[in-house]
Amino acid sequence: MHLELGFVVDSIKGKLLAGNEKTIVNGVEIDSRRVKPGYLFFAFKGESSDGHDFLEDAWKNGAAAVIVSRGDCLTKAGPGKSLILVNDTLDALQDLAAAYRRSFNIPVVAVTGSVGKTSTKDILALCLQSRFKTLKTSGNYNNEIGLPLTLLQLDKTHQVAVLEMAMRGQGELLQLATIAQPSSALISNVEKVHLETLGSLENIARAKAEVMATLGAGDFALINGDSPLLEEAVRPYAAKKYRFGYSKSCDFRIEETIIKNQGIEIRLICLGQSEKLFLPLPSRRWAMNAVAAAAMAFLLGVPLEEIKSSLLNFNPGSKRLEIIPLPDGGKIINDTYNANPLSMINALETSRELQEKGKLVAVLGDMLELGDYEQEGHREVGHHAVKNQVDLLICIGERAAWMAEAARAAGMAGEQVRHFLSKEESIGFLKQSLNSSDTILFKASRGMQLESLAEEIYSEV
Ligand code: ATP
Ligand code: MG
Repeated sequence: MHLELGFVVDSIKGKLLAGNEKTIVNGVEIDSRRVKPGYLFFAFKGESSDGHDFLEDAWKNGAAAVIVSRGDCLTKAGPGKSLILVNDTLDALQDLAAAYRRSFNIPVVAVTGSVGKTSTKDILALCLQSRFKTLKTSGNYNNEIGLPLTLLQLDKTHQVAVLEMAMRGQGELLQLATIAQPSSALISNVEKVHLETLGSLENIARAKAEVMATLGAGDFALINGDSPLLEEAVRPYAAKKYRFGYSKSCDFRIEETIIKNQGIEIRLICLGQSEKLFLPLPSRRWAMNAVAAAAMAFLLGVPLEEIKSSLLNFNPGSKRLEIIPLPDGGKIINDTYNANPLSMINALETSRELQEKGKLVAVLGDMLELGDYEQEGHREVGHHAVKNQVDLLICIGERAAWMAEAARAAGMAGEQVRHFLSKEESIGFLKQSLNSSDTILFKASRGMQLESLAEEIYSEV
């Protein structure tokens, strides 16, 4: 980044109360401890701390200017210090990101969907990297703060950007799209996540479709072609639409998926041409992410042969369906990165397909942030444990009791289902019940940190 402070002031409609418009800015931070010389520091008020209390630190670390929403901060600015006053520092960050993005004439891809956004974004970036210098959202920086911070990392060498966009309610994707001005949008799926704010799947589909609102002539969207609700929701948007999925009308149509060699083979009809892809992760739902990513990369100009070899190198990262072999043919499946009902069901299906001998054991913890859908979501997972013929279901946490209840009601015998309020309480039982020929799935929301239990059990079985 190489900007003059004057451009920043204009973009964010701020008042330069101290400092010089010609000062050069080369980065942006919202954490004063990470400010480097030449950076802008945006003072945000969080729940537990207020950036306005850390201006001294930012200046000490060499900030080119601090951006504040409190005029009284001027008293702290000594000689040589720069300070810009704005009404709202978050609006200012977003305005700067929007203005900055407009100085890059490169494809910008927005990736959204109910589940699998980060996964799809990472696979897409991997496929693009073989040909283009790619900026991608790091980790899960997908919201009203993460998105502008990502855009502000663009530099002249980037040839394409892949941005994850998340939403909890109506209007949020429209806001993110307005900032990022994507040239193409990928809507990977529409599922019952964030029902609490949106009320119905129709509303979720409409809220996802907002990502297309700013697409112009020559821009395009790639959508999940198996969702009639999504089809309906994107109808009002004029941009060119491509579809991926299993349905006949899909431009990228999956004919068949075959689990083999610790991965999945995908038979795909790619704009009329028959192709075979392989993803080294044995999940049919992840296969959808891979097809979406491959189709988008293809539409952006990456040859299919390159996409295929990128997919072969895909590594989803730790704690995402990570398969750890055990000595006697068993395995631990560590999928403790995060969870919602759909990803729980995905993990149960995958575990079932990976089981070779021994018991199929599911150690499942609470799913957080499900709102009104909390009880139903946990019960649904309990049902799917039965449907996937889990031999032993261990439910951990207060909410997980609903899973256990539903599994018993759906026919699992009493001794096949155990509920513990905490990880600690379950350890003794797990150690005596599991052995090294079992297939053992661990999964829960991030807040449960179930990986510590998976690690402890791994060292024992
Ligand atoms: P967030 O809303 O937290 O950003 P996300 O949409 O980015 O979530 P990921 O982090 O990619 O989703 O994946 C979350 C969980 O869902 C992981 O456990 C992953 O294995 C699982 N998952 C990924 N893709 C799918 C899919 N298409 N269907 C079901 N589960 C999936
Ligand atoms: Mg994500």
